Amino acid sequence: MNIEDEQFNTDKTVLQKIPRRLLIVVNDINTSRQLNSSLEKAGYTVSYAKNVEEGISLLTNNVPDLIISDVDMPDISGIDFCIKIRENIKTAAVPFILLTDKKHVCDKIGGLKAGADDYISKPFEPSELLVRIEAKLERFKVLRDLINFDAFTNLYNRDYFDRRLKDILKISSRYNHKVSLVLIDIDYFKTFNDTYGHQAGDFVLKEVAKIIRDGLREVDTVARYGGDEFVAIMPETSKNNAEIAVERIKKELEQRPFSYNGESKDLYITISAGVATFPDEAQTDYDLVNKADLALYQEKRKNRSLCSAPLESRK
Ligand code: GH3
Ligand code: MG
Repeated sequence: MNIEDEQFNTDKTVLQKIPRRLLIVVNDINTSRQLNSSLEKAGYTVSYAKNVEEGISLLTNNVPDLIISDVDMPDISGIDFCIKIRENIKTAAVPFILLTDKKHVCDKIGGLKAGADDYISKPFEPSELLVRIEAKLERFKVLRDLINFDAFTNLYNRDYFDRRLKDILKISSRYNHKVSLVLIDIDYFKTFNDTYGHQAGDFVLKEVAKIIRDGLREVDTVARYGGDEFVAIMPETSKNNAEIAVERIKKELEQRPFSYNGESKDLYITISAGVATFPDEAQTDYDLVNKADLALYQEKRKNRSLCSAPLESRK
């Protein structure tokens, strides 16, 4: 990381304030009130649903960090809700706490068998509930880190990028901050693979990932977008500053010889990049990615008209 550059000296960012999101599915008004006062006081963002159907529709577009559901619900039981949550790949790992006023052991066994992580009997002690929530969130964080990474490059994966971008735009629009998005694609990488073999290609792909990661601030989210494409979310960053960072990465890559096992000559690659900035050029995550994609496409076309053949390895 180039911490000497002024634009990279952001240790305090509003992103550290992104609160954890809880989904509460309860039909009983007293429990709902009790949960509301203790959870919001503890700094969580809480969504409420008064039946399971409403709960499912709330989590379709926005997977919460933890779900608390009453067992007794008017439509389907909290235990069946838990089974649905576990069956869906997007929510299968989300911590799930069941609440009930039935103290019968069969309910507890049924809930745990359905995949609930914890079980709390009503009336509950708010401080105990908060400790249980925190413990589950911590365990989930470890698991989620595993789910969020592209094991090949050690960068975040596309799925995480999609969710993170939504969160960052939401908070940045509240604080009126700019966010720049950078899409990067390796030039002529198919030819590189065909010429030097897929193992050499794999090696270069991992190295490029490292160079992009190290070339940006810690607070920037760098992900593998797919294949030979990478994406970076740069919060609190103007278009001009994002372009400066991209140019630096490009230069580093252009001058960097990749010496792969068995190749006597050094191999070189180049990248193309597209930058788009929120809210100046786009107001939604979809448009921002689109604009960056368009900018990347334009740069590819420009580079192709300047250089009609893949970069040869240099002596
Ligand atoms: P362009 O200059 O237009 O970007 O063309 P390109 O040859 O780089 O082709 P494009 O970006 O359309 O396709 C990506 C290529 O990247 C296709 C595939 O050969 C290669 N690729 C994708 N994933 C991997 C991978 O995990 N390992 C290796 N070695 N190659 C990959
Ligand atoms: Mg490419």
